[in-house]
Amino acid sequence: MKDKFFYECIDCGRTYDSTEIIYLCKECSIHNKPDSPPKGVLKTLYPYKEISNHVACDLFSKLEKNKFLDLLPLKSIDSLPFLRVGSTPLYNVLSLDAEPFGFELYLKDDSQNPTFSFKDRASAIVSAFAKEHNIDTIVAASTGNAGSSLAGICAAQKQKAIIFVPAAAPKAKLTQIMMYGAQIVPVDGTYDSAFDLSIEATKKYGWYNRNTAFNPLTIEGKKTVSYELYSQLEQNIPDRIFVPVGDGVIISGVYKGFEDLLNLGIIDKIPTIVAVQAIGSSNIINNIDKNNFVSTPSKTLADSISVDIPRNYWMTKKYIKDFYVETILVSDEEIISASKVLSSRTGIFAEPAASAAFAGFLSYYWDGRFKEGSKNIVLLTGSGLKDLNAVQKIIDIPAPVKPDIDSVDKFLAKRK
Ligand SMILES: [Zn+2]
Repeated sequence: MKDKFFYECIDCGRTYDSTEIIYLCKECSIHNKPDSPPKGVLKTLYPYKEISNHVACDLFSKLEKNKFLDLLPLKSIDSLPFLRVGSTPLYNVLSLDAEPFGFELYLKDDSQNPTFSFKDRASAIVSAFAKEHNIDTIVAASTGNAGSSLAGICAAQKQKAIIFVPAAAPKAKLTQIMMYGAQIVPVDGTYDSAFDLSIEATKKYGWYNRNTAFNPLTIEGKKTVSYELYSQLEQNIPDRIFVPVGDGVIISGVYKGFEDLLNLGIIDKIPTIVAVQAIGSSNIINNIDKNNFVSTPSKTLADSISVDIPRNYWMTKKYIKDFYVETILVSDEEIISASKVLSSRTGIFAEPAASAAFAGFLSYYWDGRFKEGSKNIVLLTGSGLKDLNAVQKIIDIPAPVKPDIDSVDKFLAKRK
């Protein structure tokens, strides 16, 4: 049987068939150095012509019906975890205060994935692929969402997850990982050394590695959000999608999903992606027009997008050059303030990285940049409960009142 999919190196164009497990292009990755974004990241491609020839009628409906299996690197949908991954709500928000917008705002709430973040989309595909290849141990380097996502998905799939973490990672972040029963390997070093060590251990022990921009299949999970958006907008593409950007994997996933639909002739253009980075961690936006990548040390409270060396830099750059992007930088103050607006006006409490995307939206809104009737999406990638510390500083929990109604009277009067 012909391979269902194959890989193509984004740098040299070499192709690799999918019969062997492969991570980076063997040629382009030889000279990779720890202080620059890796070369040789692979893109997963499908026989688009054959897929579109399957049926003459509505191709997208057919793909949707088979849960997009034709566009996934899997043999069967049954290999996926029983937990509901993806199919998250898309909320149409009419206003933030009394005034209706005049344009359309949709919030894609991916905090409603099993482990409360977008990362489950990637973990589910990687885990299902491992299951189909009789691999029972999956490893990742992470301090937060990716680690807890892999741990949770592996728990559902009866697989073993091993998460390499920098020893200085805060305990609270590791609790979720350990509750799912994953093994943590604390590394006396940075995230980057944990990343490199996880790859060495993968080779030595024959495990399977989930690291993003290393394992090409993580993008294949993340891209599913674009199929869902197209479906939820009744087979329309939005005008703008605000995406939080750190290492460039989520934004590439969003592009890849629409690129698949473009390759199949289902859509005729890719929507404008608005790449939102924190001012303190803007190594993609700052380098996008430069020939040589220069890293600036990152510092932002939005830890999920705090990145020194964006691992998927080259793919992101290619997508941005091939299609269309708008970029915006937001400060930590804007992120926290956007988080409060989002929580208090919509009832959705998002983590700082997701609030960064919403801060980007607010900046456009206040500048009056949305055309009447335009459809605008904000991708909310994770739950605010994952990082309570980030917003503690704007919360003032009052001192207790005495348990009598007079005290309540006085208390309320004081706060009028
Ligand atoms: Zn290559």
